[in-house]
Amino acid sequence: MFRADLHCHSNFSDGEYSPKELLERAKEAGLSAIVITDHDSIAAYSELGENLPVLLGRGIELSCDHREIPVHILGYDFEFPSKVLSDHCARHQEMRKERLEEIYNNLIKMKMHLPPLDLEEEKKSFGRPHLAELLVEKGYAKDVQHAFKLFLREGCPAYVKGPSFSVEAGIDLIHRAGGKAFLAHPHLQKRKNLLRELIALPIDGIECYYAKIPSHQEQHWVRIAEDKGLLISGGSDFHGMSKPMSPFGSSWVDEERFWKIFSKDRVYV
Ligand code: AMP
Ligand code: ZN
Ligand code: FE
Ligand code: FE
Repeated sequence: MFRADLHCHSNFSDGEYSPKELLERAKEAGLSAIVITDHDSIAAYSELGENLPVLLGRGIELSCDHREIPVHILGYDFEFPSKVLSDHCARHQEMRKERLEEIYNNLIKMKMHLPPLDLEEEKKSFGRPHLAELLVEKGYAKDVQHAFKLFLREGCPAYVKGPSFSVEAGIDLIHRAGGKAFLAHPHLQKRKNLLRELIALPIDGIECYYAKIPSHQEQHWVRIAEDKGLLISGGSDFHGMSKPMSPFGSSWVDEERFWKIFSKDRVYV
């Protein structure tokens, strides 16, 4: 059976595995296709070989906000290379680093003994999970989730908001790069009014299937997407061991849904 996991992260952002390793693991997991959706990065697409183990569609997960609330927008099937996208990513990766340095400095002010923050690696889109790893390494938290709960999530004393980038601008950016924009994991958004506003924006689709959420929740989003004439995506949000509750391939779309989103000449084989 054709199963395509349209949401996972490589080590170009906060995933554990390289794009090549992800493709191999996808094959082992019995998937037919995947899409790597790194946070504000398309670097995974710059160094692919030929004869990939499974099909690979193009993707990105943009960090946006709406009324000051973080919202993730998935961009699929864009042109590559894309100047508008790579310019955006370069700018945002810089701002991500500045934000992490601020959070890191707050943790130091809280008298925590952490190793120096190394954000030098080129082409990498750093995020809070990188700080979580330092906190775990130094024994301040038992795992990444615990580090988020204690120190890194919104509302914690060290927390600093990410750079401001509106959902409208995110959708427009994906469209200018010739891609399709999807609202990611809407079930994580608890404010109903906000969701109504988001769905009314010019998105192309909704991520209805996600990790291991209950199927009645998935069906709720499928009905909304179908009502609005929107495309349907789904994926595990696999990161490796830092998110054990999202195993690779735990959510997916079938062949028909895959080819409604991705074009033959933009999929790597
Ligand atoms: P950032 O983009 O720096 O704001 O970091 C957001 C990323 O951190 C998310 O995409 C997840 O990969 C990860 N994350 C957020 N909350 C948690 C959590 N509670 N436990 C583990 N990882 C999380
Ligand atoms: Zn992530
Ligand atoms: Fe996300
Ligand atoms: Fe994600």
